Amino acid sequence: MRAVIFHGPRDIRLSEVPRPVPGPGEVLVRRGAALTCGTDFKAFRRGHKVLLGEYPSGFGHELAGVIEEAGPGVGRFKPGTRVVVGNSAPCDGCFYCDRGQNFLCERLKLHNGAYADFDLVPANIVRHNLWPIPDSLSFEAAALSEPLACALHGVEAVRVAKGETAVVVGAGVMARLLVAALKARGARVVVVGRSRPPLDAALALGAEAVVGSEDGDPVKAVKALSSGRGGDAVFEAVGLPETWKSAVAMTRKGGRACLFGGCAQGTEVSLDAHRIHYEGLTLSGVFHHTPAYFKAALDLLASGAVSPKGLVEGAIPLADVPRYFAENAERALPKTAVLA
Ligand SMILES: [Zn+2]
Ligand SMILES: [Zn+2]
Repeated sequence: MRAVIFHGPRDIRLSEVPRPVPGPGEVLVRRGAALTCGTDFKAFRRGHKVLLGEYPSGFGHELAGVIEEAGPGVGRFKPGTRVVVGNSAPCDGCFYCDRGQNFLCERLKLHNGAYADFDLVPANIVRHNLWPIPDSLSFEAAALSEPLACALHGVEAVRVAKGETAVVVGAGVMARLLVAALKARGARVVVVGRSRPPLDAALALGAEAVVGSEDGDPVKAVKALSSGRGGDAVFEAVGLPETWKSAVAMTRKGGRACLFGGCAQGTEVSLDAHRIHYEGLTLSGVFHHTPAYFKAALDLLASGAVSPKGLVEGAIPLADVPRYFAENAERALPKTAVLA
């Protein structure tokens, strides 16, 4: 079979590899659609040990397809079942799993290998984070479960309530998934970005207002849109020190900031400590998801409350993945489906 293998930053190659045979508890999934992800692009540019572990490694982690073959002991999934594959599963035996913080599991190993003809799904994922999908749901839509699960995790972490004003800093695909998750929660959403097309896409997804570079100081602009106070909950979805700072500055007294965009290792950010203390701000770092968020994301997609429109654009064949990453490494594109 063909598989895209990650050998190191800016070095991914399409290779012929033996088609895996599922062992006990494992299943082999034939790719229906894999989606490109900003994290994959980040990994392509600078490497990513958290995502990929040791190289060479499989690549791609947003996948829906059809069970091709089930290993011994897999009763729940018969060949021919359409599924979406979670990219991690808790071990259920460590300090963090015991406390419901599955995303911090000491044995968390993120699964990659979506950019291939077949993906061998490990037994712990088959047990905890492999989900049948309804016939009415396209593979592309189902594969959005992973990034949408991360967004739901962020929204839940800072407990956004119906009618609250939520601010999303950033207008990329993850930011737009946050908009979709916040709308599903009944929040009023303001999106802060720079250029117009992604902000228009955010409006199309239901954002009430957007703030672009032409609107001057974004902190002032957000306050003007929230009775002068700032957002009840503010989500940073860029992953840069400047935007972490402005996200905290946009958070109202007593509000919550969700620091959702991951910065490079060693990054330090200076924040107004006086405000955080005397104005009772809550700052939450949020990363990844859990099987429960994954299932909730799939349910939202299956219900039609969130659709791939404006999030996934176009399709490429598997053989084009290395070229596509090389040519678009510095761009912030919408997701693309890897189909044929
Ligand atoms: Zn992803
Ligand atoms: Zn664990």
